[in-house]
Amino acid sequence: MKSSVTLFGTKVKIKQVNLDGTGVLGYYQHDKKLIALSHRLKGDELTLTLAHEVIHASVAILGLNQCQLSMDLEEMLCETIPTAMASVFKLSPLKK
Ligand SMILES: [Zn+2]
Repeated sequence: MKSSVTLFGTKVKIKQVNLDGTGVLGYYQHDKKLIALSHRLKGDELTLTLAHEVIHASVAILGLNQCQLSMDLEEMLCETIPTAMASVFKLSPLKK
């Protein structure tokens, strides 16, 4: 998997880390421009979780969270858009 991606001109690092016991499979940390993904993820689950966090990152980078976008709605978009895209395009993890 790629170690970074550029979203709207902003470089975002991607790291697989141990998230055991945290209850999450990934997160985006805007101050570090970092997407962290569980080291246990692979295949489609890795791809969909990366896509989920890319949407969180995009929302933060574009400042869309200043538009009174609730966390519930943001989470819903992060869950549904990758699933919709996966049904249209064959998604695969980013290659090196
Ligand atoms: Zn989320």
